[in-house]
Amino acid sequence: METRTGMEMKTEIKTSPDRKREFVCIVCPVGCSLIIDGEGESPRVSGNQCKRGEVYGKQEYLRPMRMVTSSVAVDGGAQPLCSVKTEREIDKAKIFEAIEAIRSMRVRAPVEIGQTIAQDIAGTGVRLIATTADAGRSHTA
Ligand code: SF4
Repeated sequence: METRTGMEMKTEIKTSPDRKREFVCIVCPVGCSLIIDGEGESPRVSGNQCKRGEVYGKQEYLRPMRMVTSSVAVDGGAQPLCSVKTEREIDKAKIFEAIEAIRSMRVRAPVEIGQTIAQDIAGTGVRLIATTADAGRSHTA
């Protein structure tokens, strides 16, 4: 059975050898081009038009986080798969571990939107939840 997997759009646009990195800020639709100058745990952020961009730039530089969206096989479902996502962003370094865990999962219908599929995906402490419902095969016309 095939599983779909996706992540948020990658926003880094450039890495230079002097540890300067550029990101497009995705916090609001303005989309400022941020330049982050790496200095240990206190990188400098420029190009932002507001404080939120500074916070985002530092986070993206020091510990990038991503939502994970994918699908889980449904036993007895009207559909073979139901969509799932992490309840919040997880450490980018944990994404592939999370995807591998999701691929091995099965859930039994009925499935409700918001239902917990996994309590702690890939040791992140973040729940994996269903984003589509499936009442099960017996409920299809
Ligand atoms: S820096 Fe501020 S204004 Fe610019 S995209 Fe980010 S949130 Fe929007």
